[in-house]
Amino acid sequence: TEQLHIIGGGMAGSEAAWQAAQAGVRVVIHEMRPEVGTFAHQTGNFAEMVCSNSFRSDDDERNAVGLLHWEMAAADGLLMEMARLHRLPAGGALAVDREAFSEAVTARLRAHPLIEVAPGEITELPREGHWIIATGPLTSGALAESIRAETGADSLAFFDAIAPIVYAETVDMSVAWMQSRYDKGETLEEQTAYMNCPMTKPQYEAFIDALLAADKTEFHDGETAKYFDGCLPIEVMAERGRETLRHGPMKPVGLTNAHRPEDKPYAVVQLRRDNALGTLFNIVGFQTKMKYGAQTEVFRMIPGLENASFARLGGIHRNTFINSPTLLDAQMRLKSRPNIRFAGQITGVEGYVESAAMGLLAGRMAAAEIKGGSLEAPNGETAMGALIHHITGGAEAKTFQPMNVNFGLFPPIDAKGGRKGRKDRYKAYTDRAKEAFSQWLAAQI
Ligand code: FAD
Repeated sequence: TEQLHIIGGGMAGSEAAWQAAQAGVRVVIHEMRPEVGTFAHQTGNFAEMVCSNSFRSDDDERNAVGLLHWEMAAADGLLMEMARLHRLPAGGALAVDREAFSEAVTARLRAHPLIEVAPGEITELPREGHWIIATGPLTSGALAESIRAETGADSLAFFDAIAPIVYAETVDMSVAWMQSRYDKGETLEEQTAYMNCPMTKPQYEAFIDALLAADKTEFHDGETAKYFDGCLPIEVMAERGRETLRHGPMKPVGLTNAHRPEDKPYAVVQLRRDNALGTLFNIVGFQTKMKYGAQTEVFRMIPGLENASFARLGGIHRNTFINSPTLLDAQMRLKSRPNIRFAGQITGVEGYVESAAMGLLAGRMAAAEIKGGSLEAPNGETAMGALIHHITGGAEAKTFQPMNVNFGLFPPIDAKGGRKGRKDRYKAYTDRAKEAFSQWLAAQI
């Protein structure tokens, strides 16, 4: 029978290998470590956690990442099983003994009768056979170059410059209003693409002061700031001059305050729709290296965002990822070369758990294909389905940036019988997801 080749034995590649092998398909894992290293990895083990030792919240009733844990465990996920085996006490989070965890994953994969390990770096996009590329945020330079040659320079990023994303429903629309600059756009969709938050001069000055004073994170070794021209952190723009932002992302031109048309705002913060559902909006041009705590404090100074909740905070990191919404089909296959799937962080999801989850799906899909069938992704009501739908279609391709799993990616649930509290609503999301995911699994037997 045909083999499945997987490049990269990280979070995604390890889970993909396990899933495909458990489905009866022979797998070869191509891993470059320890022979070729990255600036973040320390060992030659599979599924190495490069930074935090946490898989984040384990609450599968009210948290989207906890729900992803549940789905992965339900689908015989190796990484969840090993994480639970090597769990450390950490309140509601799933924290693990990182060495024991990655050693256990490595041992299980190496012991699997259908899995073979081929050490070494793959430097070119493979032409033939079934492949999954799961080389992660630190994909080696040669392979990244080869991917870029195939996809075009605009479709492969080497850094993410993430602007914070807020839940649309938490923006105070008695202060903010919907309008695109100079009223561009014909369709309703285009006209509801932007929310605007007005600032007076004193509000702007206080905001600049807070930006300059906020705690920032440093760049890692191997990352350098020179790459960021064109997407400078807002605090760096503010350091260049107090007026820089007012002439840049916060310029007040072409906009009229719908609530007080006579007041000309001194500055305007724009939020742009981030998904087709319209549940998420990113703050335009607000990529930042501010620490997370500082970000929520500073961004809630923006009129209209006093009570905003954030689906994700901003950041700038070394991160190789492709423009999945344009390049991949719903099966995570490269449209131009359908023998190649992508999985993990390189597809534009963010985080250990999300990456492993995309590996799980890619592994199952590839195995089904090799066995002569096909497997559709679970529907968008599930956490895995919501993520894969987002990266392969739901996200805006032009502004595509890596995404964590969050309830804003799910089709909204109508609050029947009056206003439900947010906690009850999250429970309704996870109940619906578990039901849909269980059906998806049952249909595969
Ligand atoms: P990886 O886990 O990185 O696996 C990719 C594998 O491919 C690696 O083993 C690599 O050696 C191998 N590889 C690369 N190129 C080649 C090649 N050409 N040939 C063969 N093998 C190759 N996420 C979190 O959830 N929490 C955090 O705290 C966190 N901190 C991070 C800190 C840093 C500095 C970085 C860079 C990332 C961090 N992330 C964090 C994101 C994290 O890296 C990913 O979420 C996760 O590891 C991605 O899984 P992956 O399988 O896609 O990639």
